[in-house]
Amino acid sequence: MNDDFINKKKETTVYDTVIHQFNKAADMINLEPNIRKILARTTNEIVVHFPVKMDDGEVEMFTGYRVQHNNALGPYKGGLRFHPLVEIDEVRALATWMTWKSAISSIPLGGAKGGIQFDPHKYSMDELERITRRFTYALGNNIGPEYDIPAPDVNTNSQIMAWMMDTYLSTIQPHERNRCIHVVTGKPIESGGSIGRDKATGQGIVYTIKQWAALKKFNLKNATYFVQGFGNVGSWASILLKPSGAKLLGVQDVSGSIYNEKGIDANDLLEYVKNNKGMIKGYSKAAPMNNQEFLSIKADIFIPSALENQITKKTAPNLKVKLVAEGANGPTDIEGDHILQEKNIDLIPDILCNAGGVIVSYFEWLQNKRSEFWDLKEVDSKLQHIITNGFTRVATAAKKHKTDWRTAAYIVALDHLKTVYKERGIFP
Ligand code: NAD
Repeated sequence: MNDDFINKKKETTVYDTVIHQFNKAADMINLEPNIRKILARTTNEIVVHFPVKMDDGEVEMFTGYRVQHNNALGPYKGGLRFHPLVEIDEVRALATWMTWKSAISSIPLGGAKGGIQFDPHKYSMDELERITRRFTYALGNNIGPEYDIPAPDVNTNSQIMAWMMDTYLSTIQPHERNRCIHVVTGKPIESGGSIGRDKATGQGIVYTIKQWAALKKFNLKNATYFVQGFGNVGSWASILLKPSGAKLLGVQDVSGSIYNEKGIDANDLLEYVKNNKGMIKGYSKAAPMNNQEFLSIKADIFIPSALENQITKKTAPNLKVKLVAEGANGPTDIEGDHILQEKNIDLIPDILCNAGGVIVSYFEWLQNKRSEFWDLKEVDSKLQHIITNGFTRVATAAKKHKTDWRTAAYIVALDHLKTVYKERGIFP
């Protein structure tokens, strides 16, 4: 649990980080000034304040956001976050990262992100449903199956997506409803979700780690790793890396940190977490560990899978790993990046590493549009194909431009978008 995220809010913002990363890559490829102007800004920023009736009959006001960064490649696409620290600057950054992510993966989607600023753990299920539905209603036609498609992110899940879909469909003509279920992805399978979407981000992380290992001739058997965040992304990455023979040494979430040098069984921990309000605290098969020491764990791979700004000037010097695989969006700030490079720690950047989520969301969207249902083998093999291609493009760009992998990933994304803008021109 790193207070840096909160402290950082007073200093550099996450959007500053995005613009810094963008400028570095844009300079390197001499991106045309006009295209640069467009991509450095978000397109639409929607802020809604809406009332919701609480269980005790009182009304509470909430603030929700949807930021649409760019839709040159396809409909706006990106997750929805429920968290007390959600604010416009963070949503802007997350929306922008989504544009780069789809461009690197070469999927026909743009970038968006949304969120509501509140702590969902303090509300009942009924209240959560009303908050979700009222927010969806407030967004109105700012979302839509061919326009802007939300998905799960921090503290949201398939149930939240089912409520969003149902609310959206209830606001359109009855005869249109069944052909619009792709207004959200990450739905429960019975309600039109895709098999493999729940594990998709973790699966993508593991595919990229395996690519990295192959490239570096690093044997994952007997390798060690630790994971920050044990929600959707962190738990699946932990579980799916295990069959390669690697050992999970430590896990941290909002409730604390745990460590076991003999290894933590991620499946067993997940069962515990499911019955412990989603938290690792109190897990008896690993020892509690000081949060401040967590990033000092000596291991081969660190997978941050929680929030932004965890690898910073303060924490990066403590890292003793060979690879950081960014499951979370924006876990490394600008200074953290420099320190990782100085320490020769490899990095699979977020916009490549965690793209599995949006890739399988794209598959869900396609299946809904075509009234198809793919099996897990098909989903996994297509995911592996797309994310592996993205990895190869980034590795090639890093070599060609003699630069770090984050900048290389940006270069791949910007090259793709640049081509599209050149082909289409700027209206009018
Ligand atoms: P989640 O809500 O399922 O899990 C979040 C986890 O982070 C929880 O275990 C929580 O306890 C932990 N956490 C929260 N604050 C923390 C703190 N201060 N210190 C340590 N741990 C903390 O969310 P998720 O969907 O797994 O998303 C995690 C990250 O991955 C986010 O950055 C998200 O944007 C990114 N991401 C998610 C997806 C997806 O498909 N869900 C896709 C791409 C990227």
